[in-house]
Amino acid sequence: MDLRLSESDEAFRAGLRDWLARTLPALPEAPTRDDWPARVRFDTDWQRRLFDAGYAGLSWPTAYGGQDAAPSEQLLFLEETTRAEAPYVGVNFVGTLHAGPTLIAEGDEDQKAAHLPRILRGEEVWCQCFSEPEAGSDLAGLRTRAVRDGDHYVVTGQKIWCSFGHVGEYGELLVRTDPDAPKHRGISWLILPMDLPGIEVRPIETLLGSSEFCEVFLDEVRVPVANRVGAEHDGWRVTNVTLSFERGTAFVSEMVDARRLAEELRPHVTSTAERRELGHVLAALDALWALTIRNVSQASRGVAGPGALMFKLAYSEARDRLGELTMRVLGRGGFDVHDYRVEERLRTLSLPIAAGTSQVQRNIIGERLLGLPREQPWPAAPSGSPAR
Ligand SMILES: Cc1cc2nc3c(=O)[nH]c(=O)nc-3n(C[C@H](O)[C@H](O)[C@H](O)COP(=O)(O)OP(=O)(O)OC[C@H]3O[C@@H](n4cnc5c(N)ncnc54)[C@H](O)[C@@H]3O)c2cc1C
Repeated sequence: MDLRLSESDEAFRAGLRDWLARTLPALPEAPTRDDWPARVRFDTDWQRRLFDAGYAGLSWPTAYGGQDAAPSEQLLFLEETTRAEAPYVGVNFVGTLHAGPTLIAEGDEDQKAAHLPRILRGEEVWCQCFSEPEAGSDLAGLRTRAVRDGDHYVVTGQKIWCSFGHVGEYGELLVRTDPDAPKHRGISWLILPMDLPGIEVRPIETLLGSSEFCEVFLDEVRVPVANRVGAEHDGWRVTNVTLSFERGTAFVSEMVDARRLAEELRPHVTSTAERRELGHVLAALDALWALTIRNVSQASRGVAGPGALMFKLAYSEARDRLGELTMRVLGRGGFDVHDYRVEERLRTLSLPIAAGTSQVQRNIIGERLLGLPREQPWPAAPSGSPAR
């Protein structure tokens, strides 16, 4: 691909800069972290402004309210909005970055028409109900049951770690529709309206004091069969489509932000060893930007290439190293927990776990990309030996 910017790219950049310069000063003050009603208003209002200005859904088809923009424009948008410190996607993360793209790839026309324009206009907040207490890394081991009853599935089970579960209006829900099939073959992917009877959402308080995560309990919840995305029992394949977007492109705008934080740290780094560490992080971020260009270009052609598998692993680990270095260079003593750098450090600790842990990513890369032998289950402990 040609990486030089064309005249129309430059015009896009100039128009975006101008819009950001006019729009950002007029935004209301950003709400505090735990004021969820205000956060939803702020984030969805920002999404609406993007939509009205023609900057929402740059990679999405125009038929569903998107812009069908060239990959270069998508990358310029990320660069410019992050440099201008525009608001982040916030509560629109799941809807715009992986639920919407999954519906574009796998949804039927009714599902696309019902949800895609509303997601882009900031009128629908989504959450993800994948993980369960006994099914995180081993997601295909999920147990939430869906029993067919006419035009509905009757769903019973428990989900955990649902980001934005308490404000989401729709959830990406994985259920077991065939308990007798091998575990990867009996799963279905459903659109879950979060206000259905039988759903109880319980926020979980984190170390930072915020309640971004939730447990979701489902007790005989009747979900229309029309809400199934993809064929019955074929949900594992659809899940991998969702995960490829979540791991491949969803973290990109964060990465531009990581570059800014690394540059901020540069004047404070004095020792040779720390300069070398910062240099390594910056080099990793540079390489990841090159990978991003490739990933965005492939994603715009509907391909989730191998870069998507590597991006999340390499990015979350580089960000983790940057967070650790920041704390070391600036000294822990001068901070309290409300300092954004401390919050940032605590948050980055979770990145190598979110959307699949680094260990699991390494397994996937080893097996699927490099063709290494599949991992073997641990041998059972001989009877009578102590538990590990
Ligand atoms: C910030 C954040 C946001 C999240 N948001 C959501 C969300 O919105 N919706 C949702 O459904 N889930 C969400 N999750 C959950 C996330 O997907 C899981 O935490 C993750 O998949 C790991 O599962 P687990 O926590 O059950 O850990 P476990 O699977 O219990 O893993 C524990 C440890 O064992 C290691 N391990 C497990 N299996 C293997 C193996 N085969 N080989 C080597 N090591 C292994 C893991 O790497 C890990 O270190 C989120 C998590 C975080 C941190």
